[in-house]
Amino acid sequence: MNYQSQSIDLLPFVMIICKTIQEIRASETNLTFRKKLIGFVPTMGALHNGHISLLKESKKACDITICSIFVNPNQFNDKSDLARYPRTPEADIKMLEEAGCDVVFMPSVEEIYPKADTRVFDFGVIDKVLDGAYRPGHFNGVAQVVSRLFDIVKPYKAFFGLKDYQQVLVIKKMVEQLQLKVEIVACPILREADGLAMSSRNTLLSVEERKAASLVPQIMQEAKALSTHLPLEDIKDRLLHVVNSNPLLKADYIEFCDADTLQPVTEIKPGKKVICLSAIFSGKIRLIDNLFIN
Ligand code: AMP
Repeated sequence: MNYQSQSIDLLPFVMIICKTIQEIRASETNLTFRKKLIGFVPTMGALHNGHISLLKESKKACDITICSIFVNPNQFNDKSDLARYPRTPEADIKMLEEAGCDVVFMPSVEEIYPKADTRVFDFGVIDKVLDGAYRPGHFNGVAQVVSRLFDIVKPYKAFFGLKDYQQVLVIKKMVEQLQLKVEIVACPILREADGLAMSSRNTLLSVEERKAASLVPQIMQEAKALSTHLPLEDIKDRLLHVVNSNPLLKADYIEFCDADTLQPVTEIKPGKKVICLSAIFSGKIRLIDNLFIN
């Protein structure tokens, strides 16, 4: 019997907080040495139950769960969005500890980018549409940070939310292109009682904007209900009209797309999954959502 590993397992649960790559590598050397499968949940913090649901999936599937909190400047095309992005490190640590996270990695910008990351990714059609078109450089920044984090953490599985549906496709493509040995696990969207998808950005909404935002999940459901008997183009026009008639809301897009390629579709064909994706501002806060409609 290995006396040392037995005594470690008997210790009361303590979450390890790492701020540097050196610290995370030191803790991981210990973990890999003990042949543990690492599950990884990358986040930008301001945690909510949507993030915790990913952590729970990781805990079910892996031996050790590492969660990162890093607000990645490279994925913000709008610098005012970066400046107002919510940051709640103490509350995040408490939530992660309560949820049984093993290691939290909270690096500085200098730690992740000791020099500017100039890599340019090309994910074909997937990163050119929807948020890729409305947020130039966003998915390139996402690929930069996620590939860097994967290189540091070296996870067995990494968990992402379907709330960021296009991001999941981009990351799967990146893993394929870079031939990385990590399994990407896509997890369902967690919603508030009124259907609004949980998001760190929801805390930035005023009471009125929060109320208006509840229309977003409603129109997604309406899209699904109408799709059985109306042409998709007509539904799209109708929903855009509903959203843009509300003085607090403004749509970047509402699109029906092929769920594999994200190319727009005008009709539902047998055997093809169609997803409705939206990006809608409530006041200054941009909210994204999606729903499979067949
Ligand atoms: P973020 O901190 O916004 O970058 O999100 C970190 C991870 O949590 C991403 O994989 C998101 O897709 C996921 N996530 C965010 N909100 C939700 C939600 N409401 N339900 C499930 N996953 C989510």
